[in-house]
Amino acid sequence: MIQIRGVRKSFGAQLVLDGVDLDIPQGAVVSIIGPSGSGKSTLLRVIDYLESADEGTIDFGQGAISLASAQPKDIFSIRSRIGFVFQNYNLFLNKTALDNVSLGLVHAKGKSRKEAERIALDELKRVGMQDFADRYPSKLSGGQQQRIAIARAIALEPELLVLDEPTSALDPEMVDEVLAVIKSLADSGTTMLMVTHEMRFARNASDHVVFFEHGNIVEQGSPERIFNHPTESRTARFLSSIH
Ligand code: ADP
Ligand code: MG
Repeated sequence: MIQIRGVRKSFGAQLVLDGVDLDIPQGAVVSIIGPSGSGKSTLLRVIDYLESADEGTIDFGQGAISLASAQPKDIFSIRSRIGFVFQNYNLFLNKTALDNVSLGLVHAKGKSRKEAERIALDELKRVGMQDFADRYPSKLSGGQQQRIAIARAIALEPELLVLDEPTSALDPEMVDEVLAVIKSLADSGTTMLMVTHEMRFARNASDHVVFFEHGNIVEQGSPERIFNHPTESRTARFLSSIH
C-alpha cells in the first residue's frame, strides 16, 4: 500500500491541493476523475516531486517521505519508485525509440548498454512497438509515441505507474491502442494512479475511482459505486455534465 497524506499546495494565493489523503493498494488501478483546473495534475506532480508540496508525505511502506522538503536521496528514492507518463509523451526527440527506453536503464539502473537494449526491446514488444525500435519520435504517431513513453516508464520497474491524461493529446483513432496497452498492464498487476477523462475506461479498467474537485477528494469507491450510485451531489453533477 502506498499512502499519501496531508498534501497541500498553493500557487501564490491560490490553494490548489487542500490536504489530500489517498491510499493506493499494491496491484490496484486508481483513477482520478474531476473537472479541469481542480488540481489533479498538480497532485500527480507533487507525488513524483516534479513540484514540491507545501505540506504532505508519501509512504511506500518504509516510512513517510516529505513531499515539501525532500532531501536529494529522498527525491532519488521517490523518482526511482515512480514511473511517470505525461499527456504529451515527453520523449527525447533526438533519440530513437530504443534509446528512449534503454537510456534510463543505463543511467538510473546501471545496466550495460547491451543488457539495457535487450530489456528495452522486450518492453517495446509489450507495447507492440518492437518493429519501430530504430524510429525517431518525429516519424511516429502520437499513439505510438505514447506507447513508447509507457515502455520507457515500465522498463525501470517502478512500484507505481502514474499517468496524467495519457490519451487526451491523441487523435481519436489512436486512443484505443493506448488504452489497450494500459489495460494489459493493469491486468498484469501494475500498480497505477491515473488521471483520465475517459469515463468508460475508468469504469472498466479501475479498481478504485476518486472524484476530485477544488483540490480535494469529494468521494471515492469502486467504479460501480462512483458511476452508478454516487452519494455526493457534486459527483452526480460532474458525471451528468460530461455525458
Ligand atoms: P487539473 O489537472 O485538474 O486540470 P491542475 O493541477 O493542472 O488541474 O491545475 C490546478 C490549478 O493550479 C489551476 O488553476 C492551474 O492554473 C494552477 N496551476 C497549475 N500549475 C501551476 C503553476 N506552475 N503555477 C501557477 N498556477 C498553476
Ligand atoms: Mg491536468
